Amino acid sequence: MGYVKLYPSKQEILSLDLSVFKNLKYLIYGFYYQQELFNAENIAQTKENIKKSKESKFIVYFDFKKLEQVFNIVEKLSSKPTTQNKSFSIANYKCDCGHYISIDADNGSCPVCGKDSHFKRKIKTKCPVCQSRCLKDHYGNGKCDNCGWQFDKYSNKFRSRVIYPNLVSLNKARNLYSENKPMKPDLNDFLEAFEFYGETGFDYKNIGFSLFAKNENGIEFNWGPEPNGTAYFKDKQDFIQNAKIGDEYVRDIWDKVENPCYL
Ligand SMILES: [Zn+2]
Ligand SMILES: [Zn+2]
Repeated sequence: MGYVKLYPSKQEILSLDLSVFKNLKYLIYGFYYQQELFNAENIAQTKENIKKSKESKFIVYFDFKKLEQVFNIVEKLSSKPTTQNKSFSIANYKCDCGHYISIDADNGSCPVCGKDSHFKRKIKTKCPVCQSRCLKDHYGNGKCDNCGWQFDKYSNKFRSRVIYPNLVSLNKARNLYSENKPMKPDLNDFLEAFEFYGETGFDYKNIGFSLFAKNENGIEFNWGPEPNGTAYFKDKQDFIQNAKIGDEYVRDIWDKVENPCYL
């Protein structure tokens, strides 16, 4: 569908979690000597190549088929604070007082000088699901204390799509709320969330299950610790048709799974 081109500095590219590119076609070139390609078989080696290089600036291209993939990457690279997603909490900002502050904390104030950052949730808004009064930050992020909906820019634009950090679409969330039902994703919603983000999980009978994106549309399905195992599916349809837990199809027991989430 298209490609995106980024021009990070060496410091910037090394601070990125390059694994966001793992399921996409991507190319990393030096900015000044564009013949030099830094891609390697695996991301760790790619990063090592970048580290060793004398380049101070890079060009990153990546192809995408669906717009969601770009959102996914932007989301992960811009790395806003969420409770579910600590692994991408690489982001920090420089406060006016000169200290680098992690944006992990929800209260969004500098612990040294007390100044508010852009991540401080102090802008008044209304929850798009339940209409409660809520607060969001400068970037539009926040969470409704009443219904649990998490605000983000894209779900308001694409109301029938499942978009991180929520597990159901905005339209569906509104319907569920009006029917007084919990905002739990059905298997289709869950797999849409997975397609968007590439890493999701759930619990069933006290065993943790996780799905990881593999190659093109493939899914690696893991469970454990006891019993543990792995199964592979070629795409979402294959998973719906064939994924089993013991003797039961995931689609048949979905109503009983717990804690569906992004990993
Ligand atoms: Zn400060
Ligand atoms: Zn709400």
